[in-house]
Amino acid sequence: MSRSPDPRSYDLDELRRRVLAEEGGGTVDDSIPQLASADPDLCGIAIVTPEGDIRSSASADVAFSIQSAVKPFLFALALMDTDGEALGRIGIEPTGEAFDAIKLESGTGRPPNPMVNAGALLTAALVDGDDPEARSERILRGLSAFAGRRLEVDEDIARNEHLLGDRNHALAHLMRAEDTLQISADDAVEVYARACAVLVDVEALAIMGATLACGGINPVTGERVVSDVVARDVVSVMATCGVYDGSGRWMRSVGVPAKSSVSGAIVLCVPHRLGAAVVSPPLDEQGTSVRGSRVSGILSEDLDLHVFGRHRDA
Ligand code: GLU
Repeated sequence: MSRSPDPRSYDLDELRRRVLAEEGGGTVDDSIPQLASADPDLCGIAIVTPEGDIRSSASADVAFSIQSAVKPFLFALALMDTDGEALGRIGIEPTGEAFDAIKLESGTGRPPNPMVNAGALLTAALVDGDDPEARSERILRGLSAFAGRRLEVDEDIARNEHLLGDRNHALAHLMRAEDTLQISADDAVEVYARACAVLVDVEALAIMGATLACGGINPVTGERVVSDVVARDVVSVMATCGVYDGSGRWMRSVGVPAKSSVSGAIVLCVPHRLGAAVVSPPLDEQGTSVRGSRVSGILSEDLDLHVFGRHRDA
């Protein structure tokens, strides 16, 4: 019987060349100038195994802002810092609506799930810290532990996210009105904006995904970043809600828990098998990277990653 291929011998540069040669289409996000000026031909891919082996393509060290790919990690930190209490404060159902829809769960006034903006504004606010600065520093430390290296915030991106994020301000005010958000609306937007503006490259993001895939232990540094229960909760919600309003289609076709973002990054998380990340800025209508989806689909097929697939090893 054939065995699943070893990710450590997979040729990521060949995959990168293949998708770059295709006419993918898509449009680069223009919500802030720094995203609008992203190179549409940037494409980087990285894979990290549970043994801590890292494989990367060309451009794997190009920095970009993490944007929505931060949401699973904010959720993880909020679960840690509230001892799981965050679970009662946020729904976990997919919405089928845009990530920034001005809408809360009916009847409860809670955000629908932690992978849309309302949820991430709340998880950012639930992380420990007495003021926005302390909370942002705690988030940066937590994200750095996931990545196994000290990450930094791009201050210009953070400022623009904060200034231009009108829908996020609206969501934060709505959550104040519903008594869901306990800190000021402006502070919540500031902390969330700074989290979206954290700079990563695909290698760092793949290590972050691998940490969730390894039950909360960073496979490169060996550090336990979150508990295995927190990691399991986060990956479960990535599987159902991680790819905007395309999450159902994604789960059927790619079959890997993931989170996509408007910078064109996607973080993938296959429990006990690998973490991976890809970046390519042109987005489809839901806001997911066109080439990123393509790369994820090919990796899933070639490496036998679909979590509901009939694995060749079985
Ligand atoms: N900066 C974005 C926002 O909250 C992140 C969106 C995303 O990547 O989906 O509006």
